[in-house]
Amino acid sequence: MKVLVTGGGPAGSLAAIHLAGKAEVTVIEEHQSAGFPVQCAGLISDSCFDELRRFVSDKCLLNRIKGAFVFAPDGSFVELKGKSGAVVVERKILDVELLRKAAENASIRIKTRLLSCDGEKALLRGTSGKNYLSYDVIVGADGAASTVARTLSFSRPRMLSALQVECRFEAIDEHMVELYFGRDYSDCFFAYAVPLGDTARIGVVASSEPRRYLEGLIKKHPSVSKRVKGGFVELNAGAIPANLVDFVKGNAALIGDAAGMVKPYTGGGLYYLLVAAKVLGETFPDLKAYKKRYIKKMGKEYRIGERIASFYSVLKDDDYITLVKVGRSMQGIMPELHMDRPSSLLKIMPLLGKLITHPRLYTKICRALMM
Ligand SMILES: Cc1cc2nc3c(=O)[nH]c(=O)nc-3n(C[C@H](O)[C@H](O)[C@H](O)COP(=O)(O)OP(=O)(O)OC[C@H]3O[C@@H](n4cnc5c(N)ncnc54)[C@H](O)[C@@H]3O)c2cc1C
Repeated sequence: MKVLVTGGGPAGSLAAIHLAGKAEVTVIEEHQSAGFPVQCAGLISDSCFDELRRFVSDKCLLNRIKGAFVFAPDGSFVELKGKSGAVVVERKILDVELLRKAAENASIRIKTRLLSCDGEKALLRGTSGKNYLSYDVIVGADGAASTVARTLSFSRPRMLSALQVECRFEAIDEHMVELYFGRDYSDCFFAYAVPLGDTARIGVVASSEPRRYLEGLIKKHPSVSKRVKGGFVELNAGAIPANLVDFVKGNAALIGDAAGMVKPYTGGGLYYLLVAAKVLGETFPDLKAYKKRYIKKMGKEYRIGERIASFYSVLKDDDYITLVKVGRSMQGIMPELHMDRPSSLLKIMPLLGKLITHPRLYTKICRALMM
């Protein structure tokens, strides 16, 4: 059986790795290499990295992270500890190593772009011009602007815009990420700093105008603006899907950003696509089973994750200030959270009673949770 995997990013490479021995796989990648251009802060959980380590070396490991400081707009912050740690990886290295691993069993065609497909054959443009490639199954791992999804009329996820810079930064603790909430830094999400020694990847996610929010964060945030030290060496812009869409149609399956497989409340995609690639390999060639098993495994995480993400649009600056204050008063009793599993946040529910002295905020949160 011939499988055409479109896209040599992590979703495409991992899909090819897990399909090894089950099909004759071709991966096409439009760029000269994988991991280019970078559109990622590189933050993944330890457990995600442990899974990836089966296929990549430690060369892509840049930093270890033990938790997060969550900032209210006034600069106050609270510490959140993770159940396990996290790491920061260099996607330029990770993606290349994954594609190299995929190449052990798949045929890789770089500088080859999918122009369209019709269910049986794909029109490609490579270094020697246009040509057709026939396939039995097509896997759309071609990112947020997926050509597979577009030409085969899959419904598309809602998209958020992300903008990130890498620059010199004085982190409070170089093993803690920082998350910044407030209307001046995003209309529907949050901004972040992922530390890398004396630099950091500082970014924002918003429904539009990410540049305005990023400038506001760097120039005006009461804490960040004092710690950004210039030396901007990298600028990444990209789209982040906000919801999972139907990802199987006939002999076509989507995976990764193409399918909206990202944690709805952080925008992190690597763990969710890693799970999908594994499930695709286990269930292949039954694509309906791929969809069913993935939803069984991850459906609850998406549902809870979307509710958490809805808080970002509902909460106002004053609410974040109150939440950080209440969070600080609960510092010793806060449960440890699993970075990849929003359902672990349910452990916080019994502590919501602490908000009873803030009835307006309490009602707002309960309403958002029940929506
Ligand atoms: C600013 C930013 C920060 C992020 N930070 C994190 C983070 O810290 N942690 C995390 O887990 N996630 C993060 N993400 C999300 C993460 O980067 C994505 O979820 C992940 O890259 C998705 O992988 P993918 O393989 O599905 O898509 P991509 O990485 O986009 O790969 C798609 C590949 O397909 C190729 N392609 C596209 N169209 C075609 C075509 N027509 N023909 C041939 N090839 C094609 C592209 O060149 C690309 O190589 C971030 C995203 C952004 C934008």
